[in-house]
Amino acid sequence: MQPMSSLILAAPFDGWLSPLDDVPDPVFAQRLLGDGMAIDPLDGTLHAPADGTVVSVHAARHAITLRLAGGVEVLMHIGLETVRLDGEGFVAHVAAGDTVAAGDRLISVDLGTVAPRVKGMITPIVVTETGGHAVIERAAPGRITRGAPLLVLGEAAADGAAPNAAFAATAQATLRLPLAHGLHARPAARLAELAKSYDADVRIVPAANPHATPCRLRSPSAVMALGLRHGDGLTLLASGPAAAAVIEALADLIATGMGELRPLDQQAAPAPAPAQKPAESVDTSPIAPGERLMAVTAAAGYAIGQAAWLERPEPPRTAHASGDAGAEIARFTQALAAFRTALEQRAQEQAGSEQAAILTAHRQLLDDEDILESVGDAMTRGDSASLAWQRTMQARAATLRAAPDPHIAQRADDFIDLEWQLQWHLAGQEPPAVALPEAAIVIARDLVPSQVAALSPAQVAGLVTAQGGPTSHVAIIAASKGIPALVAAGPRVLSIAPGTPLLLDATGATLTVDPDDATWATAQAEAARRQARKAAAQAAAALEGRTSDGLRIEVCANLGKRSEAAPAVANGAEGCGLLRTEFLFLDRANAPDEDEQTADYTAIAQALDGRPLIIRLLDIGGDKPAPYLPMAAEENPALGLRGIRVGLAQREMLVPQLRAVLRAGAGSAAGAVKVMAPMIARVEELRAVRAALDAEAAKLGVATVPLGVMVETPAAAVMADALAAECDFLSIGTNDLTQYALAMDRGNPAVAGSIDGLDPAVLRLIGLCCEGAQSHGKWVGVCGGLASDPLAVPILIGLGVTELSAALAMVPEIKALVRALSAQDCRGLASAVLQASSAAQVRVLATQMIEGVAQ
Ligand code: PEP
Ligand code: MG
Repeated sequence: MQPMSSLILAAPFDGWLSPLDDVPDPVFAQRLLGDGMAIDPLDGTLHAPADGTVVSVHAARHAITLRLAGGVEVLMHIGLETVRLDGEGFVAHVAAGDTVAAGDRLISVDLGTVAPRVKGMITPIVVTETGGHAVIERAAPGRITRGAPLLVLGEAAADGAAPNAAFAATAQATLRLPLAHGLHARPAARLAELAKSYDADVRIVPAANPHATPCRLRSPSAVMALGLRHGDGLTLLASGPAAAAVIEALADLIATGMGELRPLDQQAAPAPAPAQKPAESVDTSPIAPGERLMAVTAAAGYAIGQAAWLERPEPPRTAHASGDAGAEIARFTQALAAFRTALEQRAQEQAGSEQAAILTAHRQLLDDEDILESVGDAMTRGDSASLAWQRTMQARAATLRAAPDPHIAQRADDFIDLEWQLQWHLAGQEPPAVALPEAAIVIARDLVPSQVAALSPAQVAGLVTAQGGPTSHVAIIAASKGIPALVAAGPRVLSIAPGTPLLLDATGATLTVDPDDATWATAQAEAARRQARKAAAQAAAALEGRTSDGLRIEVCANLGKRSEAAPAVANGAEGCGLLRTEFLFLDRANAPDEDEQTADYTAIAQALDGRPLIIRLLDIGGDKPAPYLPMAAEENPALGLRGIRVGLAQREMLVPQLRAVLRAGAGSAAGAVKVMAPMIARVEELRAVRAALDAEAAKLGVATVPLGVMVETPAAAVMADALAAECDFLSIGTNDLTQYALAMDRGNPAVAGSIDGLDPAVLRLIGLCCEGAQSHGKWVGVCGGLASDPLAVPILIGLGVTELSAALAMVPEIKALVRALSAQDCRGLASAVLQASSAAQVRVLATQMIEGVAQ
């Protein structure tokens, strides 16, 4: 007998996916018509979920049944109680007997007319005739994109047994997840790593879906795709000689919370707000000339140009197998090997860059055991290599996209990208080169990382996507290439015709479509001005930071990793005013030891070649958890155990770091390496750090290093004189200082629009800090976001700051600005802004000054 091949149903709408249980109609919720899922649509056109024929379209045009391969029939019922509208607001594009292909339009619905008049738009998609199939895989609830795999139908188990019955576990444990942020990438990787060290095969099954195929623990992508959240139940199953031991070890590790422990009786944090608007508010109206659309900034900058579509050429896919599973497996293996080699080569070519890290991560995904097995199984069942790979990767992408955590959801693009790239290898062809017009502002529904990686800033002025998110790899690559980019601009951008003049302002997160002549002329002048200023600043980047009247201002860069040190120097950075060491500690299973830290700090100091390097002690806790540092959940983490409080409470973290700093200092130019403590609120904390630093220096037999205080709390700012008496320098972390001064959480979107470091309250604290430091002859720097804000620079200099540590890319511009300013004028501005009553007023005063400065 021929093995039954699986049938994949794609999502017929963009929308929010839920289980049938959530449909407020017992006929669907109790599955009286059959199994399936439901989508609350975000667009108004229902598409075919697979190839088939139309069995019937209801007279009220709100429901349609299709017959698909293998005798499967699917009913799609748009909205609830929509039959009452008797077809008003619905247009059917097909009729009974028509043949349809997957993705064909079936019915359009005017959501604006229909939605307000019915009980809901939730649309059940139900398998009414199974043809001997059962649902063997389903996308996870949440946001789903049209065309993404929704349901996979496969052979029903003869005895009705769940597929996981095939896994003969000899040990198992059922537990609930105490991880505050659920089972996301890092804990999944940690569990996989632990599982690999035992001679056992371990699987995981979510309690909510006990009949799901047990997911292999050695496949972090699959584990992550389960979307397990805090408090969810799960069963670990193991077979093999070390089954019992591995289950015990895994259960113990999970119980620690892996640094994200939240007691099970505490509520999980609310899911992040969805990136998309709900159905009723989706605007698909045409764009009027001159209209300004809002989006989300993914990469900063300003661009003018013409709209261009970046088509992604479809690789030739082979849907039907040769009939020889062995031949398909051989083709797949060969293509996979070629793809691995290509990714490795590209990573080597880009060594040290963001792109290399992404390429390496992609290369690792190709080793995911679960993905490979799923593709292998599909080929053995009769799918072609091309189809098996497509289904596996699209299903994985759909599941990730539905994840409530936007960071996980945005990784779906990586799977779509890998799917696409391997198809070209399978076809033995190269994707055709993209042709774009001059000054192209690329518009796309969404982009994948390899597409953006292939673009050059010389060819592309900007990018705009209807979907996507600011933390995606697409955003990271665009920023690393200096291409301004907007994401999540909404479906209306898709109606922009190629060639339409566009003005992209990523700073204001706006896209102006077909601006009038006056706006266009102003934008051209602005773009030319920015370009000339940038070029001049870059050309003068090596010059010393000094105001026009001779005050020395050191302009440094903030760094987070080794690979940034050389580009910082090339950009003219006169040192590093803030090394955020927590970035060296994140995304790993264990803290780096003293030797590893010494090597990192020494390498950065060497790359800076004698310039100052200020190493900030680990700033974790609160919103910056580290997976290997178990910390109990806190009611109010921003006011809890974070920054230096963690180090002082857990000396086993602090001491190796102090020793590594001292050792790096001993191997560098005298005084070049300095250390500073984050979140200091009291003099006693500074004394405790000083004592630990001096004690370790004595033990190592090396000279101690200068010790600074980060001024991030209002307490530290007003006590700056007392702190300055005992430290060597102060550096103001304006991001935290602003959040604590204004009592506005820097990570809370509800107050994001109001939190402003140029608030006079913050500026007065900075002024107090400078006065306090000056009374003891100590210098003050700024390493928070204000140091990168051109409007803030003259104010900070006027208040007495003599070191600015800016974002790496901003260093040339900030340096050029410093050289154009006079310290005397800055002091005048500072006294004026200290009398201002609002941030808006401060901005007006600062803008007037900056505009009067010839750069
Ligand atoms: C700050 O708070 O301004 C700062 C520089 O530290 P971080 O942004 O890393 O908290
Ligand atoms: Mg801070």
